[in-house]
Amino acid sequence: MTLTEKDSQYLWHPYTQHKTSQTPIAISRGEGALLWDENNKEYIDAIASWWVNPFGHSNKFIADAIYKQLTTLEHVLFGGFTHEPAIKVAEKLMEILPKNQQKIFFSDNGSTAVEVAIKVALQYFFNKNEKRTTIIAFENAFHGDTFAAMAASGISFYTQAFQGMFIDVVRIPVPVKGNEEASFEALKNVIEKHNCAGFIFEPLVQGAAGMVMYEPEALAKLIEICKEHNVLTIADEVMTGFGKTGKTFAMDYVDANPDMICLSKALTGGTIPMAITTFTQEVFDAFYDDDINKALFHGHTFTANPTGCAAALASIDLLQTNEMQANIARINKSHLEFQKKIENHSKVITARTLGVIFAVEIKSDSEESYYGSMRTKLYNFFIDKGVVLRPVGNIVYILPPYIMTNEQLQKVYKTIEEAIEMV
Ligand SMILES: *Cc1c(COP(=O)(O)O)cnc(C)c1O
Repeated sequence: MTLTEKDSQYLWHPYTQHKTSQTPIAISRGEGALLWDENNKEYIDAIASWWVNPFGHSNKFIADAIYKQLTTLEHVLFGGFTHEPAIKVAEKLMEILPKNQQKIFFSDNGSTAVEVAIKVALQYFFNKNEKRTTIIAFENAFHGDTFAAMAASGISFYTQAFQGMFIDVVRIPVPVKGNEEASFEALKNVIEKHNCAGFIFEPLVQGAAGMVMYEPEALAKLIEICKEHNVLTIADEVMTGFGKTGKTFAMDYVDANPDMICLSKALTGGTIPMAITTFTQEVFDAFYDDDINKALFHGHTFTANPTGCAAALASIDLLQTNEMQANIARINKSHLEFQKKIENHSKVITARTLGVIFAVEIKSDSEESYYGSMRTKLYNFFIDKGVVLRPVGNIVYILPPYIMTNEQLQKVYKTIEEAIEMV
């Protein structure tokens, strides 16, 4: 049996209708921005394997750090124990996070980072004997697939089977250009009508919605409104963190600081699943008490796994090199040139760029759904050409590893141009 045949016998894949989907591609090797399948066909990974891999596949520097840690202390429980890799990650993050972030809590993935933030927002008010149980989120947000994260997510597709089983979430419009005032008004309205504990948002770019972008000034204003009403703000930087937007964090563009930040995806350079939620001292202090019931009773078996911490440290070191910063700037410049080239194409609705993130919306005759027919046609075309891109409906986006070469980038652009002609 081939790998694909064995796969279909045993495995259940994410976001997959197994009856109608195509068989998955068995990847056997990766290096830099490239992947090879079991038949040795080469693919350019133009979405950094779901946004996790900025420094390339099989990165030797991170692999060495992981090996060294695995042969020193691979894991130890974090309840009642601590270790140097976790402390070093905390120290490192304190250097690069917005200055008001003072405490860090480890978990396993983006959803758990969000889950922790939402639970903390709710318990913060519980601990203060204040009845606040509503969470505010953007329309079309994506915050993950565990229950609270899913409740905050606005892409109905992912959540429709569970309607009525969620914590209270009220949605406001995203302040995209021209829609800022409506978003501000909606937020004020929601805060007035509900007992709001927290506002969670993807800062500047909504990834899963199709790289929807909005301005830092608008986000600063929304945060300011929340602060006036003592509503906790949660920046979900799971996608945007660690250089994707051109700065270390998307919040670095924003003239206001959130109370909590969620990190994962690129945190370990795409090697080991790990996540972090960070907090202000003020949030932490609401749990600091003689009363044990005020503690945060949340944890995961692999909390602060030392090997994951070693991978995170190596990744942040790589991110901070001049070489990597130059790569980010190079890709941004290249995207802007490509955007200029195609944005006036008759089949293009709009194109946008922030940092290494590029997205283009393609005109379509019919209403395009998230996993609609245009999406399938585009996806298959890209795979056939050896480029890994996962369009969202009629939106094609690129989120390359920072080490992608100019030649590889040009191939990705050319393939997208051909796809636009094809559909
Ligand atoms: C991917 C993502 C998540 C969920 O992360 P998982 O590791 O898939 O659980 C949460 N928030 C944002 C913004 C994301 O992009």
